[in-house]
Amino acid sequence: MKRAYVNKVTGERYELVPMCPMCRAPIYWSLISGKPGASAPAHCANNGSATRIIIDPRNIFICDWEGTVVRMPDGDVRVYNEDNRLVPHRVVRKRYPLP
Ligand SMILES: [Zn+2]
Repeated sequence: MKRAYVNKVTGERYELVPMCPMCRAPIYWSLISGKPGASAPAHCANNGSATRIIIDPRNIFICDWEGTVVRMPDGDVRVYNEDNRLVPHRVVRKRYPLP
């Protein structure tokens, strides 16, 4: 699901996580099929239908971005915008102790 890169010298791990092109929030999807080419709708974490805790109903932010996820032959998924372009990714860096 995530592309990960490991720096073998420092043990640092980098993951590319797809983010909403409109508000940079994480993207949620549900793609059960493992068949290459299978697709499912994707939506932004700030979508009104996303499950979340509303802390302040007066200051609610809703993003209605929707896209599509497509299963790749290697089992990975790609998240596409409505215009069939890949959504941007952000790099998440994780540090693990060296063995
Ligand atoms: Zn969004």
